[in-house]
Amino acid sequence: MTRNPRHGPILIAGGGIGGLATALALARRGIASHVLESRPAFAAEGAGIQIGPNGTRILTELGLAEALSPHVARPASIRVLAGETARSIVELPLGPWIAARHGSPYWVAHRSDLHRALLSNAEASPLITITLNAAACKLGRTANGVAVEMRSSGSAPTTPALSGAEGRGLIAADGLWSDFRSTMFDVAPPRFDNRSAARAIVSTCDAPPSLRAETTFVWLAPGAHVVHYPVRGGREIAVVVIATATEANRDWSQSLTAARVLDRTRTFNPQLNRLLEAAAGWRSWSLHTLPPPKRISDGLVALLGDAAHPILPFLAQGGVMALEDAAVIARELAASPGDVASAFARYQRARLSRIARVAHASRRNGQMFHLGGGLAIARNTAMRALGGASIMAAYDWLYGWQDAGP
Ligand SMILES: Cc1cc2nc3c(=O)[nH]c(=O)nc-3n(C[C@H](O)[C@H](O)[C@H](O)COP(=O)(O)OP(=O)(O)OC[C@H]3O[C@@H](n4cnc5c(N)ncnc54)[C@H](O)[C@@H]3O)c2cc1C
Repeated sequence: MTRNPRHGPILIAGGGIGGLATALALARRGIASHVLESRPAFAAEGAGIQIGPNGTRILTELGLAEALSPHVARPASIRVLAGETARSIVELPLGPWIAARHGSPYWVAHRSDLHRALLSNAEASPLITITLNAAACKLGRTANGVAVEMRSSGSAPTTPALSGAEGRGLIAADGLWSDFRSTMFDVAPPRFDNRSAARAIVSTCDAPPSLRAETTFVWLAPGAHVVHYPVRGGREIAVVVIATATEANRDWSQSLTAARVLDRTRTFNPQLNRLLEAAAGWRSWSLHTLPPPKRISDGLVALLGDAAHPILPFLAQGGVMALEDAAVIARELAASPGDVASAFARYQRARLSRIARVAHASRRNGQMFHLGGGLAIARNTAMRALGGASIMAAYDWLYGWQDAGP
């Protein structure tokens, strides 16, 4: 597709999962974009990310299935286990069951494999410009749209720093600590949820054999849970330990000693602790949250992904919600290319109730996961009685989501 010189690009602040997916979704509809990323370079950061059928459908439509295929794993199920005893609570079907039910598979991947696939497709598109070391911070109006100013990075840039960029509108996909959410939408900063997540990667050959299955494992205990699943086509296992915490930090990648992690998991089953002992390079981030947004668009500016709605990770939908946002905003922009403000208003209308429902379901899971005593026994009894297929069928509204438009 060729760039239409009569139309300036859509500016996208943030080259994370949401920003790059948006650029690709726009390019697929013939719309040019300019991605402004504050980092001086993209590093291989993060660990595991789960992508339900509502996300894999979008990645497939963006043309990424082939590039991602060797890197993802396709778990057969989610095995929910009692943390101390390793006794099965319930097994939720994924694999062919969920692929047949929703017409798209359930993948688990390393975040950096997903990010790299999005990035290399974006770099190959003539409709997408990506500028690194461009921390967008201030928005002004021009005759034809918007102008964004950059904040000086302070560090020596590898490429000459960009002082500003112009476009027809701005999509702020600048993550959890979005500058644009606080300055333009007058929303208080995200609140610490009193829990933190520690993540690491284990080589599959170092894992106890019983935990090498192509399955997502979820271990539940009072005040803490552990999730692990294969990534990198099964060569590695991504592990995350989520537990009550008192101290918050704003960093996605704070380093953490293995001893501190193992201290939190002492009461868990020894098999699981053997897996955790084999992990290297622990990093942590603090869970933060906001009430569901009332507004995610204002004239020529729209928020997307974590900037719009930091969603707690108990339903594994943070990245997928950014993909859904990307698909919807691109469709709306293509429907009225000359009227960005109307497109952003329709995007907001299409997304607010969905975001609120997913955020609520995720928060509820977080409460259920960390129960103790009689409440945990009641939860386990109820889950066993319902059975895996019924529990998953109750999530049809989540995984069966499809973008409404053409
Ligand atoms: C380093 C890192 C590691 C992560 N690791 C994991 C993980 O292991 N598992 C997991 O489930 N989720 C992880 N996440 C979060 C996950 O990517 C997001 O929750 C989700 O994918 C939503 O994507 P997003 O694009 O909205 O936000 P992000 O993926 O967080 O992307 C936001 C992007 O905006 C950039 N940015 C910030 N401010 C500005 C600005 N002013 N101007 C321009 N650019 C800006 C950031 O550098 C970042 O690249 C990680 C995020 C980051 C940034």
